[in-house]
Amino acid sequence: MERYDIIIVGGGPAGLTAALYCARAKLNTLVLEKKMPGGQILNTERIENCPGFDSISGLELAQRMEQHARRFGANIKLEEVKEIHSERNAKVVKTAKGTYHAGAVILAAGGEPRWLNVPGEKEFLGKGISYCALCDGPFFAEQTIAVVGGGDAAVQEAVYLTKFAQKVYLIHRRHSLRAKKELQEELLENAKVEVIWDTIIKRIEGKETVERLLLRNVKTGKNSPLEVSGVFIYIGFVPNSKLLNKNLELDERGYIKTDFKMLTSAEGVFAAGDIRFQLAKQITNAMSDGTTAAIAAEAYLKEKGLI
Ligand code: NAP
Repeated sequence: MERYDIIIVGGGPAGLTAALYCARAKLNTLVLEKKMPGGQILNTERIENCPGFDSISGLELAQRMEQHARRFGANIKLEEVKEIHSERNAKVVKTAKGTYHAGAVILAAGGEPRWLNVPGEKEFLGKGISYCALCDGPFFAEQTIAVVGGGDAAVQEAVYLTKFAQKVYLIHRRHSLRAKKELQEELLENAKVEVIWDTIIKRIEGKETVERLLLRNVKTGKNSPLEVSGVFIYIGFVPNSKLLNKNLELDERGYIKTDFKMLTSAEGVFAAGDIRFQLAKQITNAMSDGTTAAIAAEAYLKEKGLI
């Protein structure tokens, strides 16, 4: 069994930033990532809102963050965490390959935008399908695009996307929006937006990139095509907060609750990034959380005499 000062679960921007800070502070640091370091930025073709980079691919940014953390001594293993529990002063983290002990844990396992689960969604990810208007909106200048969903996020982002697109269809499965009244008003007053009510997407089609949607009106059962070059899907987000569900306090949406130090309801367990509720799920927010969690975790380890 290997012992570390700190174990970080998740190797996205929050986890890798926490790893960089912990390793630079000379903590014996392990990052456990189930797939490949980078997290959601790996799904982003180009990133233009990470300070210091005019434009960088998600893959390159992920690789740079990984190398940076490794250069300061962080150990990064590709193993999926199955269980975490506390034993006296230690946190025990189990993966399919091994068991690791640490004085503190930072949960930075993120989450995933809820998928529509329709044909074409996976194929065109990053080729017209996006889950982030702030990241990808500028790539759709003067184009016709669609936003799916009827909550605050879909409505707010549909309005935001009119800055770039010449036309934005908001496709919602019912005839009333869940979003706040003021956001609804802003949407309905915007001449570039057209709401398509009572409608679901059956299929997303195109050659290299998205070209059209096949829609179905759920009231009439009628199918119809809609020509668009992009689709922004905003039908909710699912945080990966289940790992310690029994011990950790979650909010009503399933996100892990933290205080200003990123400390969760469990001693020595911190959370950072999209696994917490954030107004904006941006790389910069995740990095900020990772920084705070790392500094607070180091202070906790010192206070407990664990380092
Ligand atoms: P949300 O409030 O859960 O809304 C999800 C929307 O997606 C709903 O309209 C839902 O339709 C629709 N939907 C769900 N599954 C679907 C499916 N399979 N196919 C088609 N449509 C589907 O999620 P959210 O908009 O991401 O907001 C999450 C939280 O963040 C909320 O608490 C929200 O208030 C907050 N937020 C606030 C702001 C702000 O204050 N400016 C901005 C963004 C988010 P139904 O309505 O039919 O269920």
